[in-house]
Amino acid sequence: MRISIICTGTELLKGTTVNTNLAFIGQELSEAGLVPIRALVVGDSLEDLRQALESVVADSDIIITTGGLGPTRDDLTRDVVCDFLNLKLHRDSEIEADLSRRWAKRYSTSPNEDYLLQANVPESSIVLKNNIGTAPGLWIKGATKVILLPGPPNELNPMFQNEAMPLLKKLVGKACFTASFMIASISELVVQEKIEALFEGLPVSLAYCSSIEGVKVFFSGENEDLIKEKAEDAKKLFGDAVLADNRLSLVQEVSERLRGQGYTLGTAESCTGGMIAAAITDLPGSSQIFSGSIISYSNAVKTKLLGVPQEVLDTYGAVSAECVSAMVLGVAKALDADAAIAVSGIAGPDGGTEEKPVGLIYIAALLHDKVIVEKHIFSGNRESIRNRAKVKALLMLRELLLKK
Ligand code: ATP
Ligand code: MG
Repeated sequence: MRISIICTGTELLKGTTVNTNLAFIGQELSEAGLVPIRALVVGDSLEDLRQALESVVADSDIIITTGGLGPTRDDLTRDVVCDFLNLKLHRDSEIEADLSRRWAKRYSTSPNEDYLLQANVPESSIVLKNNIGTAPGLWIKGATKVILLPGPPNELNPMFQNEAMPLLKKLVGKACFTASFMIASISELVVQEKIEALFEGLPVSLAYCSSIEGVKVFFSGENEDLIKEKAEDAKKLFGDAVLADNRLSLVQEVSERLRGQGYTLGTAESCTGGMIAAAITDLPGSSQIFSGSIISYSNAVKTKLLGVPQEVLDTYGAVSAECVSAMVLGVAKALDADAAIAVSGIAGPDGGTEEKPVGLIYIAALLHDKVIVEKHIFSGNRESIRNRAKVKALLMLRELLLKK
């Protein structure tokens, strides 16, 4: 199945919008064992979109377009694709009625004609419902299928998952089974080497997605039993490094482990400024496990609210193993939490010295009477150093929870 993707939008070329739709579609397709052969990005220009279609149509079974389905003048995709494929558009009365209802809810006037253009549907096409926004997606049948998706990610994502993927899977014919898991803190190359040896010669497609949290591995193929069995075998190669319950995010897994034990967590964050607290509270239901955070950016807060002794600050400084040890004990006590995390470091770009360079981070994790402290020197810019500190802190807490 040869799939080409064309993303439209001048903002994608200027870099003012990051092309997350392409990443999302790629991930969804690869989880189903489909990998697109190419992706193009074109601006909001009739001619450029037409040329893009021309350049891919001959060797594509499927073309997916994103963006340009809305009611504004720069939304050209529907018209250009129909013109290109020589298809007539007709007004779909059901969509028109739905659009009119939505309009009436917001404005007291009747809808204008530009807005109703979104109800124009090409012949031989299937309408893909848009439950979030106004512009429906379209699946145009033919030798080369063309799937038109809206630009806003909150509209595209559910539409692609719920409307387009089932049709794609049907088209592929054979059922495609997938399994996936996430491996924390092992490099992608090591993961790949170990896994690939296990799958040599087997009809299973493998895909990897690496981030600072670890590596997500996806298995897909037609034979459900084989996929399940081999994915379990692969898991065993990595022991505790595999996140439990097929969780694909570290913070989710740590939260579940805390919840499972009925533990509460508190954080004392200096250079991460609450990023760990934010990650935990991003998840619904976090109030059951999260006590709170003390953003102890200044030394005064470290001493006053966390009880870090002044001598520790004078002797070792705020960026030290001694300081994070005192911080983690202090926050566990102040918030009456079972578990705690403390971070202090130099995120840069300024403030580094020869002895304490930018990227130097001390992290402490506590679970009841057990405390572990680590020193790290992370590379990268401020954002990357702070993110790495957050991930490492969660991994350390996970380590303590696993030992329980
Ligand atoms: P609308 O009805 O909002 O006009 P549309 O289908 O016409 O929807 P666009 O006008 O192309 O879509 O884009 C709408 C919004 O979606 C813009 O804010 C745009 O930056 C964002 N967007 C478009 N394409 C992408 C993409 N590939 N990745 C991330 N965001 C995107
Ligand atoms: Mg638009």
